[in-house]
Amino acid sequence: MSIDFQSLKVSGIKINYYFICKRKLWLFSKGITMENGNDRVLEGSVVHEESYRRENTKELLIDNLIRVDIINKDFVKEVKISSKMKEADKMQLLYYLYYLKQLGIDREGTINYVKEKKIENISLTHDSELLIEDTLKNIKKLLEEKYPPKVEKFPYCKKCSYFEYCYIREE
Ligand code: SF4
Repeated sequence: MSIDFQSLKVSGIKINYYFICKRKLWLFSKGITMENGNDRVLEGSVVHEESYRRENTKELLIDNLIRVDIINKDFVKEVKISSKMKEADKMQLLYYLYYLKQLGIDREGTINYVKEKKIENISLTHDSELLIEDTLKNIKKLLEEKYPPKVEKFPYCKKCSYFEYCYIREE
C-alpha cells in the first residue's frame, strides 16, 4: 500500500459519486442537499435498492463507514437495480474489496443486477488497487477545493437531484 489509508478512507457512496460526477461528490460531501431533489437514477434507485436489501439481504456496516450488502467466506455481494451506472458500481465494489483487504480480509466480489438478472464478477487486481489508491488521493484533493468543479453535461444530469442547482445557477 502506497497511501495513508486511514487518513484517506471514505464511504462507498463517495467512491460511487466520484465516478458519476465529481461536482456531485463535492456538493454531497459539503452537505449541500436539494429539498426537491429529483435523483431518479441515483437516489431513486438507492431507495429501491434499500427496500430490496431489507427484504433479501443482510447489510453489514464496517468501521461505521462502508456498508456491504452481503459478505460470506468467499464473496462480497452487492445488489443493484440496474447496470446504468456500471463503472461507478464496479469501482465501489472494488473499493470494498480493497478496504477489506486492509483489514486482512480477502474476498472476491459480485454485483447482482436485479432488473437484468445478471451477475458480474469483480476481482481486486494489482492495477485496480492502484486505481483505488489514486482515486482516494484525488478525492482528498477534490474535497479540499474551495469551489465545486464546473458543471459537466452528462446524459443523466436531468435526473440528478442537483440538476436545478447546477443548470439554473450556471447556465
Ligand atoms: S446535475 Fe449533472 S453536473 Fe450537476 S451534479 Fe448532477 S450529474 Fe453533476
